Amino acid sequence: MKTIGLLGGMSWESTVTYYRIINEIVKKELGGLHSAKCVLYSVDFDEIEKCQSSGDWAKSADILSRDAKSLQAAGADFVVICTNTMHKVADDIQKNITIPILNIADVTAMALKKRNITTVALLGTNYTMEQEFYKGRLKKCGVNVIVPEKEQRMKINDVIFKELCVGVINESSKEYFLKVIAELAGKGAKGAILGCTEIGMLVKQKDTPVPLFDTTVIHAEAAAYMAMRKD
Ligand code: GLU
Repeated sequence: MKTIGLLGGMSWESTVTYYRIINEIVKKELGGLHSAKCVLYSVDFDEIEKCQSSGDWAKSADILSRDAKSLQAAGADFVVICTNTMHKVADDIQKNITIPILNIADVTAMALKKRNITTVALLGTNYTMEQEFYKGRLKKCGVNVIVPEKEQRMKINDVIFKELCVGVINESSKEYFLKVIAELAGKGAKGAILGCTEIGMLVKQKDTPVPLFDTTVIHAEAAAYMAMRKD
């Protein structure tokens, strides 16, 4: 089994989910007392968020590159960046390590393809919904992305940083997210990407008929199967 290098803490609330899902899958597939070989580097998210809000992506790339190098030195065979937003600097991080990064947008695009979905809603931080690093990567894989209106994006972003990343689950926020998803489905989206690793804490598949693509689950599952792959 390969060793998974988790670059987490962004936020730690969702990194917990990664750890749980990865181990559940290894247990399901290998049985008995098997569990996943993991190394976790959990950052101080406050430091990273300050880089995001001040637009200092170069600094965040430096911090995460240093931490990814630590994962490599600790024996990780590949890196899982446990956040959609920080994939903005994934290519910069990759330049500093020799082990591969398992990209969250790529595995999400593969999950969409499996269900034959080519037009999809994307919910995430403002950075993820508005910038090209994520949407562009999906587009390259043949996926058309619809994002919420500006005002809705602001509200979604606020819920992510002020509630979900600090472990607060509000019923009214859940209703709001479901309303936005339904609206985007009305505009032609055949599914919705929960493109922020904390949204799955708030919205579940049982809450909506629109197929949901929870990036935390998809990414964690892909990591577990990559670790168990014999090559
Ligand atoms: N975990 C979130 C994401 O998947 C937001 C936190 C961050 O800005 O990294 O984008």
